[in-house]
Amino acid sequence: MDSRQIQYLASLLGVGFTPSGDSVMLNCPNAPYTDGHKSDQDKNKSFGIQIVRPGNKSLCNCFACGIKGSVESVFGRLHVQGVVTQDVLEYVQGCEVQDLAAILAARNYKPPTSQKKTFNVERFVAFAKGNRYGDDYFRSRGVMDTEIARYELGYDQRYKRVVFPVRDRYGHVAGAAGRTVLPEGRPKYYKYPSNPKAFLGEHFVDPSRQEVVLVEGPFDWIFTRRCFDNVIALQGLRLTTGQLESLLDLGNVFTLLLDGDGAGQRQGEALATRLAARTRVFIAKLPEGRDPAELSPEELKVVYQSKEVFWARNFGVR
Ligand SMILES: [Zn+2]
Repeated sequence: MDSRQIQYLASLLGVGFTPSGDSVMLNCPNAPYTDGHKSDQDKNKSFGIQIVRPGNKSLCNCFACGIKGSVESVFGRLHVQGVVTQDVLEYVQGCEVQDLAAILAARNYKPPTSQKKTFNVERFVAFAKGNRYGDDYFRSRGVMDTEIARYELGYDQRYKRVVFPVRDRYGHVAGAAGRTVLPEGRPKYYKYPSNPKAFLGEHFVDPSRQEVVLVEGPFDWIFTRRCFDNVIALQGLRLTTGQLESLLDLGNVFTLLLDGDGAGQRQGEALATRLAARTRVFIAKLPEGRDPAELSPEELKVVYQSKEVFWARNFGVR
């Protein structure tokens, strides 16, 4: 890339630049998405792109976060990670049309060693928000724009998952629930990180209301919240002792709205048994093979009203 092309790239990225010797220094576009920078903004312009003749390949390098390589490979990686848009990547590729091998050989270039990166869930959630692929997927599932905004729903471009931020009862981001948007995508559900310190929906629970409705998945949670305020998505019915304790802190009465399938029900009953040893538990069964996401608010209310006290059923008392 030549100097003019690099300056145009900076304008595409919306970052500042300063020519310096045989490079142009930019505010690192990767700064908000790595721990290599002290803050989300690289005020020092640590990201240098080498100036070469038009059509020749540049190397780039960030002194702060250490990302380096040919501009094509660096921006390719940043695009996969969702840091830069397709347009930016295509612009870079368009500027770099000749053979890189000769330049690398001439500079005795060594490929970078991999760098350790810690996952910052708060940053991840903030970046995932407001993505049009994610928004389109949510809309296709019947989620309203007001819900997308209110629940800060997002999209993980790297792994093609929609993202549901999980905030704890004080409002801090504790994790996120992910669901693949690919029809055959595995795993279907994913937790960021794998052991979040809060449940999806915890932030919205009003403890003075006493009753908490428990559902399984994040979409179940969105649709059930249209009927009830206090809803938690468990994301798996096998809770650790710690999770069970923190769930018991959220209410005095729990109603499990379980999917109609066999596996879910067995696990749900095992969970209900553990909860019923400590507090009041109701179970409401959804019609066979349906989950809360497929039901209208009216149908959900009917299911909810058919709830039974768990101990009564368990001990055969009517
Ligand atoms: Zn950097």
